[in-house]
Amino acid sequence: MSAQSEPALYPLFADLRQRRVLVVGGGAVAARKIAALFTAEAVIDVVAAELGERVRVWCDDGRLRHRGTAFAPEHLDAVWLVIAASDDAALNAQVEAAASARRVFCNVVDDAALSSFQVPAVIERGPLRIAVSSAGMAPVLARQIRGRIDALLDDSLGALASLLGRWRLHIRERLPDLPARRRFLESLADGAVGRLLAQGQPRQAEAALAAALQGADPKPAGRVSLVGAGPGDPGLVTLKAQRRLQEADVILYDALVDPAILKLARRDADLIGTGKRAGQPCVAQPAIHALMLQHARAGRSVVRLKGGDPFVFGRGGEELAFLRRHGVDCEVVPGISAALACAAYAGVPLTHREHAQSVRLVTAHCRDSIDRLDWRALAGDGQTLAFYMAVGQLERVRDRLIAHGRKPETPCAIVENGSRPEQRVLLATLSELPEFARSHRVTAPALLFVGEVAALAGELHWFGAAPIIATSAAIAYAA
Ligand code: SAH
Repeated sequence: MSAQSEPALYPLFADLRQRRVLVVGGGAVAARKIAALFTAEAVIDVVAAELGERVRVWCDDGRLRHRGTAFAPEHLDAVWLVIAASDDAALNAQVEAAASARRVFCNVVDDAALSSFQVPAVIERGPLRIAVSSAGMAPVLARQIRGRIDALLDDSLGALASLLGRWRLHIRERLPDLPARRRFLESLADGAVGRLLAQGQPRQAEAALAAALQGADPKPAGRVSLVGAGPGDPGLVTLKAQRRLQEADVILYDALVDPAILKLARRDADLIGTGKRAGQPCVAQPAIHALMLQHARAGRSVVRLKGGDPFVFGRGGEELAFLRRHGVDCEVVPGISAALACAAYAGVPLTHREHAQSVRLVTAHCRDSIDRLDWRALAGDGQTLAFYMAVGQLERVRDRLIAHGRKPETPCAIVENGSRPEQRVLLATLSELPEFARSHRVTAPALLFVGEVAALAGELHWFGAAPIIATSAAIAYAA
């Protein structure tokens, strides 16, 4: 028996055509299971002390075989699966034990812990099957989710799947190159073929498929999408970014890209990390350029995936210029930049009718770039400053702002891991900011907001843990 608290079930779609399955039990539950097995064209044996009305009729019609009234392990000899569907718990357990001993997969109805396989909630569209399982932890939730997915999927998808099945070999012959074939196939569901099927015009759809295949390019050019992945919360990935991740042959991703977002990628896409990680040096920019070019020239769909937005401190501009120079087909898919996400998730409105009429996105990466900033302009009133990459430079930022006239008691907020479950928000005044951040061991990625609006996080925060507020800052805000 496979009793575990939360098993990670291995999904499996079994071809049961002409394969023998044993059902123990002959009542209404058994009848339901048998009906599903008929759909799968299984050959069915039943062992049951009594047969209910439905099962008896099937037996009389010769659709199944009643092998006996008492279960014996020999009944498992020729079967691939067994379903224990009797209302006798002891008998079900006995069936399970005998099945385990013979390595026959066994489902005990309504007893996930005892079952070595479970039957998921299923959505059907022709040959398409979408299965939802909670491993028996939450069957009602699984059924609810099945309902939601069911509502999303057009009925004509079944016809599309059948059509593709019929044309499969033909398409493979015409487009032997896998990326080209995949691109062609992906274009069908959203194009004329999908539309005609949804309109109930299968013959026209087939003609459209034939025409599209005739015109398909067997060696399409590669392309690169510079895609913004947002700050971490997968819910902040745009629909377009999601689509590109699903179409990609190769994904070159930065260290800042949250692993939860990489899970949105097509399963067999090549994932190549280009960022600094666990002490390893990051791939140098020219090497990233070379990688993009190499894969695009090989005809692949390349996604260059960056944290936040590609054009905000992401070197996306350089990459786009390089690709354009080399004649590569490219596009930019914007993402939600850290300043926007951190502000929203911390309750810091970036502009405010009274306090801030403009916002500046500033990088405080290293000493050099800090010295090049126009501190006089940055220290001016009535604006919000959003500093990227500032964790290691808080003293310098503070000293320069104060030296150029920004008040030492200006409110500041640091948002660490913005939009992620582990998000932390710290509030302090400008003068005490570096010490406060150090005492709370703030680490990258974190974003620093300087300006009156930062204080609003104290009352407007809504996501994750409440802000950590420095004592003097609390006094200043209350005043
Ligand atoms: N292109 C990115 C920025 C890259 S620079 C964007 O548009 O967001 C890297 C800096 O972004 C980090 O040092 C940090 O300051 C900020 N950052 C990125 N993700 C963040 C997050 N989830 N929380 C806080 N800051 C983040």
